[in-house]
Amino acid sequence: MKKILILPGDGIGQEVTNECLKVISYFQKDCEIEYTEDLFGGASIDVHGEPLTKEVLKKAMEADAVLLGAVGGPKWEQLEHNLKPEKGLLTLRKELEAFANLRPGKVFPALIDASSLKKSIVKGTDIFVVRELTGGIYFGEPRYIKEVDGKKVGANNLIYSEDEIARVARVAFEIARKRRNKVTSLDKANVLEVMQLWRDVVSEIHSNEFKDVELDHLYIDNAAMQVIKRPSTFDVILAGNLFGDIISDEVAELTGSLGMLPSASIGNKYGIYEPVHGSAPDIAGQNIANPIAAILSLGMLFKYSLQLDSIHDLIESAVSETLNAGFRTKDIGIKDTLTCSQMGDEILKNIDKLS
Ligand code: NAD
Repeated sequence: MKKILILPGDGIGQEVTNECLKVISYFQKDCEIEYTEDLFGGASIDVHGEPLTKEVLKKAMEADAVLLGAVGGPKWEQLEHNLKPEKGLLTLRKELEAFANLRPGKVFPALIDASSLKKSIVKGTDIFVVRELTGGIYFGEPRYIKEVDGKKVGANNLIYSEDEIARVARVAFEIARKRRNKVTSLDKANVLEVMQLWRDVVSEIHSNEFKDVELDHLYIDNAAMQVIKRPSTFDVILAGNLFGDIISDEVAELTGSLGMLPSASIGNKYGIYEPVHGSAPDIAGQNIANPIAAILSLGMLFKYSLQLDSIHDLIESAVSETLNAGFRTKDIGIKDTLTCSQMGDEILKNIDKLS
């Protein structure tokens, strides 16, 4: 029996995960899966005084995968940093050793007009960014702002070990094998020693273990241009924490709406799946949020944690079909828009039709 822990969190996190529950329940008739729900983020602070309790963390470690909604909101903004809902998210990622962040950016044909780029450029775009999540400049020591000779100096340290690079490179190559078999690794090897190491290690892992996958390397500055010039030619993009952070948002912008973007953070053992968007306090409680990002995140969970690739593909096709039929939530449509739960129902109908 596969176990999924669902942490809806706050705001629209609760609404969009409700739609995921409908999808999970549907597949329970064919698959051995069970789920439990628990409190996380602000909802947990209100009851337990902390965003992630030890009990919930234990449940997450015992589960095969965790599905998150979103956390945060104005109610908890004044709390000190360590008690904020977002701290729960960071702790969960750290404790579950989720070192690879996966961010697909797929342009659905029905929503091609939502992209900020011309249709002819963005058509067929289906990029998958694999970003190193627990190392690099965001974590490197020493880090400081201090006074030197009466002037302030700030520093951070971009540091990667061979092992940190190798493990995330392997994730990217494995994913490419399940897609169009191509990895583009981003670095700045022409200027930074640590990035020369990045390039060397990625090349070594490639030639020793993944020769069947096509590999190319791009400098990050060139990549930032190529991604908007020829997005449809990319398959998997592999990058360190800083470059991956930036390029994944650039890729997101190609696709249009925040309500459409799924993500995952995975390690060797655990996987955390969540929509890219936040708790959207401005629309929370109105049943108008777009549940597609959350449902696509659940699709990723089936593929990357439960190895049920066919269910992932079915969910993606059902979303595509629903959009092709003209169904829209308020963030992606103008008139006759559906509520969050109606969109969930339409997607479910298509899952049933296509299965
Ligand atoms: P947000 O993503 O919550 O919202 C940004 C805008 O996009 C809002 O106008 C919102 O209505 C809209 N939007 C977002 N998701 C949508 C959806 N599914 N359907 C329709 N419209 C959608 O970002 P924010 O407003 O900057 O942050 C709100 C709160 O969420 C903050 O407390 C922030 O810290 C938190 N946050 C949490 C996460 C997370 O849990 N991973 C991520 C980002 C922000």
